[in-house]
Amino acid sequence: MNTSSIYHCLGLQDQQLLSTSYVGDTIQLKVKTKKDKLRCSRCKRMHVICCGVVERSFKGPMIGKKKCVIIIDVQRLYCKKCKIVRQEHLRFAKEQKSYIRSLEKMVLLLSSHMTIQSISRLLDLNWNIVKDIIKSHLKSKYHSPGLKGVKHIAIDEFAVRKGHVYMTCVYDLDKGVVLHVGKGKGSESLVPFWKRIKINKVQIESVAIDMSAAYILSVKTNAPKATMVFDHFHIIKKLNETISKIRRDLYNKEKDKVIKKSLKGSRWLLLKNPENLNLQKGEDSRLEKVLETNTTLFYAYYLKEELRELWNQDNIRDASKLLKQWIEEANETEIPQLKKMVELLTKHKTGILNWYKCNISTGPLEGINNKIKTLKRQAYGYRDLDFFMLKIKAMHQDIYAKCG
Ligand SMILES: [Zn+2]
Repeated sequence: MNTSSIYHCLGLQDQQLLSTSYVGDTIQLKVKTKKDKLRCSRCKRMHVICCGVVERSFKGPMIGKKKCVIIIDVQRLYCKKCKIVRQEHLRFAKEQKSYIRSLEKMVLLLSSHMTIQSISRLLDLNWNIVKDIIKSHLKSKYHSPGLKGVKHIAIDEFAVRKGHVYMTCVYDLDKGVVLHVGKGKGSESLVPFWKRIKINKVQIESVAIDMSAAYILSVKTNAPKATMVFDHFHIIKKLNETISKIRRDLYNKEKDKVIKKSLKGSRWLLLKNPENLNLQKGEDSRLEKVLETNTTLFYAYYLKEELRELWNQDNIRDASKLLKQWIEEANETEIPQLKKMVELLTKHKTGILNWYKCNISTGPLEGINNKIKTLKRQAYGYRDLDFFMLKIKAMHQDIYAKCG
């Protein structure tokens, strides 16, 4: 090792190598800042007078099998401009950090493909240091994603811990970027996002959301001119839940053992799209049998299939007609469980049909949701929610990285 190699291999700028020693499994590199490179850490100028030293050590990346530690007598400098005494400015490390920049770069390079734990093992680094490096990088890059040109967004919630902790995600539907992650699933989770929208004078044109009252109010208040589109996946999901409930209630009341048995295994058959039924396994005939013996289920199933057609119409007028007809038919069946669905669709008619004015949905967020699940598994459930939120914002970057 010499002065040139510590510069080229470890990025130790402005440093002169004084000595190299080997202590156990560690290489200790004693360095010193070249006299003509001493700078004030506040104004970065060179009008300084030396007034003592403090010994500090920094972690570097491993060199072969050896751990690497850089030891430096950091100069305390009096700056003639700032009129204060401070430790010298070190270009090879960030302020208040105990590792050098080249180690940081290596960790970040590995972080798009490896977990904190595996990086920590590979580089023989403390888990907290690895996390600190990744977190401060993500913070500087993704804390406030740019909002310029944002027009079409989707808002949706996802569960962090099963059913207990929720987060709200705002997604730019044009660029495929997560713009905001907020704690909770109410309107308060969106407050910082709307604040930034206002400051940046961004005009949101359309928003895809589910039919949650909190989100509706939040959009109406903060983006009154935006077209609100109620997501069709959520509507079908709600109807599927209703059908499941009808089936469950029927099962519980049914006395006939044969009918009860056929009802038992029919949940997925009822929810599956007919084109996905497995004919070789006889799923179609099993479904037929269930529907033949239960008039209530037959109507509910028929209505489910009819509602799916709502998004296959030629124009908003035809769709509006179909929705009106659907509501009438559902009312006529007098199935109590469908009542809520009728109320929901009647109340949110405009937002549902807005899909024909603006073809957007929260669908792309479902993809993000799946990736969040993987992220949770990789990290054994994130305890540091801020870190978790930053990881979500950086997710699209990882996707690019993985594509090469
Ligand atoms: Zn200064």
